Amino acid sequence: MATAAHRAVIASAEGDDSIIGFQWRLSGSHPATDICDYYANIEMGLGKGVWTKEAVPHHKAHPHCMCLLIPRVTPIKRGGSKNYAEIIRNATPARRDQLLPKWAKDAVDTGVKLDKLIKPGGLGLLSKQDAIAAGLLPTVNDAYKVAKEGGKHAGLLKNYREIPTAMVERAIRSMEKQINLHEPKKIS
Ligand SMILES: [Zn+2]
Repeated sequence: MATAAHRAVIASAEGDDSIIGFQWRLSGSHPATDICDYYANIEMGLGKGVWTKEAVPHHKAHPHCMCLLIPRVTPIKRGGSKNYAEIIRNATPARRDQLLPKWAKDAVDTGVKLDKLIKPGGLGLLSKQDAIAAGLLPTVNDAYKVAKEGGKHAGLLKNYREIPTAMVERAIRSMEKQINLHEPKKIS
């Protein structure tokens, strides 16, 4: 399957909450063990080879890769396998960083309970939209409160307090420009 088709599979599941992830299935004509085998055996709590929507690679593993990407509405069940919630809960911080999208990491950093971001039944993460709708994500004011209390971005807040308002406004405009520039490039 070519990269365009691979991405079309991912795009078609966007915003579709019934899809919990994608199974990376090895092509039948797979001569040697390579990165595809690793992808097809990944364990993220949705069953062997099933990637969460946030983590699924948007590229083919290598040129001429013929593996299939199959949207899943249910996890692949296997005796004794852990579900997503268990894996996330027991992951080391580094592994957890790999498994979580940035918005979820940021939320956890600002004190949101990780369990609240996990779907009922432990099947993957809520979508960012759902988390916002449920009031789980910190608002701008919460971020300010955290910084003021010496938490995340406290240093940034302190620096900006010491410079004239006009300069702060200029810095904000410049950041907004950067955000607008990068917005179309983000994947999730
Ligand atoms: Zn492959």
